[in-house]
Amino acid sequence: RAAPPQREVPSVCPYCGVGCQVGFRLRDGRLEEVVGRNGPANQGRLCVKGRFGFDYLGHPDRLTRPLLRIEGAAKDPADCLDPRRARAKFREASWEEAMDRAAAGLLRIRDSIGPQALAGFGSAKGSNEEAYLFQKLVRTGFGTNNVDHCTRLCHAASVTALLEGIGSGAVTAPFTAAAEADLLLVIGARPTENHPVAATFLKEATTRGAKLVVMDPRGTGLDRFAEEVVRFLPGQDVALLNAILYVVVTEELFDRQFVAARVDGLDALRAHLAGYAPEVMEPICGVPAAQIRHVARLYAGAGAALTLWGMGISQSIHGTDNTRALIALALLCGQVGRPGTGLHPLRGQNNVQGASDAGLIPMMFPDYHRTQDPASRAFLEELWGAPLDPTPGLTVVEIMQAAERGVIRGMYVMGENPAMSDPDVAHARAALARLDHLLVQDLFLTETAALADIVLPASAWPEKNGTVTNTNRQVQLGRAALQPPGEARQDLAIIVDLAQRLGLDWDYAHPREVFAEMTQAMPSLANITWERLEREGSVTYPCGGPDAPGLEIVFGDAFPTPTGRARLVPAGLSNPAELPDAAFPFVLTTGRELEHWHTGTMTRRALVLDRLEPGPTVSLNPAELQRLGATPGERLRVETRRGGVELRARADPGLPEGMAFIPFAYREAAANLLTNPQLDPEGKIPGFKYCAARVMRM
Ligand code: SF4
Repeated sequence: RAAPPQREVPSVCPYCGVGCQVGFRLRDGRLEEVVGRNGPANQGRLCVKGRFGFDYLGHPDRLTRPLLRIEGAAKDPADCLDPRRARAKFREASWEEAMDRAAAGLLRIRDSIGPQALAGFGSAKGSNEEAYLFQKLVRTGFGTNNVDHCTRLCHAASVTALLEGIGSGAVTAPFTAAAEADLLLVIGARPTENHPVAATFLKEATTRGAKLVVMDPRGTGLDRFAEEVVRFLPGQDVALLNAILYVVVTEELFDRQFVAARVDGLDALRAHLAGYAPEVMEPICGVPAAQIRHVARLYAGAGAALTLWGMGISQSIHGTDNTRALIALALLCGQVGRPGTGLHPLRGQNNVQGASDAGLIPMMFPDYHRTQDPASRAFLEELWGAPLDPTPGLTVVEIMQAAERGVIRGMYVMGENPAMSDPDVAHARAALARLDHLLVQDLFLTETAALADIVLPASAWPEKNGTVTNTNRQVQLGRAALQPPGEARQDLAIIVDLAQRLGLDWDYAHPREVFAEMTQAMPSLANITWERLEREGSVTYPCGGPDAPGLEIVFGDAFPTPTGRARLVPAGLSNPAELPDAAFPFVLTTGRELEHWHTGTMTRRALVLDRLEPGPTVSLNPAELQRLGATPGERLRVETRRGGVELRARADPGLPEGMAFIPFAYREAAANLLTNPQLDPEGKIPGFKYCAARVMRM
């Protein structure tokens, strides 16, 4: 008998911010394969995660019923490492019992201690509608602005600097603008691993003749396509960028007309840069002065230059300053607002742009209106029918620190895993264990759920209808291909149920109703409707009319600032929070690898990906391995002042000597047991890319 015909459900990849459109191909109601569709960000292409990263959907570990902590079962941070031991401390419950308990715990804390004792972590892996409703629930139901998500660990520094400099936190051009660029500057990013499909567009641009400049302390997969590879010392981004700016300013290479017409702050920047000559910065950043001068002339001389950056710039205690210097370079040289130009922070998660736009951040309402702004508050109070707190809330790491101090007593965590993703995670786990009431909504009994009072079984992205917004500002529609397993529920339905139990008069039957409300709350979504997305699949914001294509390149005439002009903001030198010394002589850096996504909950349950990268490794330069007397594959111990992990050695000639790299996807060797929690004072982002460590043979 012939096999029944396949059905293909169009959606979007749930992994990185590239936002590849996918087709979920089903046979007999089961997911048979995932194929690339012709979306604007991928043109049919997919990377290994987009093709093979979906076994988690039917994995036996999926949660299918609500779980309640058994009375008297202690919360022990050690349970994060032992899912079986953690599971034994829960019993299954009905939705009614679980939701009753969930709401009662939150109300008890809100009404007896106060709203500021509550907090919520939403997720950049959910839809825009979920992010919007989640932050609305925390602000109007909990009564606090203590709501945040992983953008705080990702591009918070970039957004801070972009808002300050050009009045908008999103990209000014899509990465596909590379097709019209003469020069691509990629700094602190590893697109071949972290944004693989975007990397293919960058490579194509070099084939066409665009010059590629790659700047990074580590070798990257793009180096072999580069005109110039600038290897600078870790943590010294500002020294390098200020030296480049020095050359642009002192050699008068900048775009006088553009600066005069559209940019403020040249005189102050010029004065600030006086001490940053390349020859002075060379010993600090480790780059020869001649190369600094050459790169400055290359960039300033390009007809159209596109600047892309990643976590290497933002995950730093001076991430805001790093980004300020990059923005200044683009503004000085007039490399914004024209085809082939732009500023593009490569977004990490599939919906970190959309979740941030939707207000899943503590100091701003949807569309980045500050909580202290009376007009924005009055508008939303009218729309939402509830009073709003003007006080900015706490950020991700601040919430965990407040929980450790006993100030935050109750939390609702939807699709985040702070017990793996926070810096200095031993403290984060202790803080989570200390909470009076921890409600976790997820697909699996994650390391965070292991410390919960109540665990709610959620739905995965291929089981949902919803919109997501990728790194290019493309709002895209995902459609449900599968049903959630067992009694697992749609996340949106769970949020609405909880809101109703907290006394809110909410009634949303479908995500399209939430999206319609979002278009009222968020002018950025003007002219984008659910129906249009059903027809077109993807619309870029801002969009000038109901049938107009969205604007890919923005700010050609004016910046969205009160004056319409951009601002150059000088960036000063500062050292990383913790420098190597005799006891901890290595610089430890952490990040993702191609095959595994963030804390590994999904990709480590995907057969092909797990086979490709089955366990944790520490990468070192071969010369360092030789010095240690170690060989690749041997177990090593890595320690910092906060903890230690054991993992296998890997040789990576692209790493400079004195530097070690650990991916953060592995529960059994959690990289964040090691990382430093000190924050960038403005972006409030931790410096995941730099701490002092030692590496030992076992
Ligand atoms: Fe998914 Fe990103 Fe890979 Fe595209 S590049 S398939 S969005 S992980």
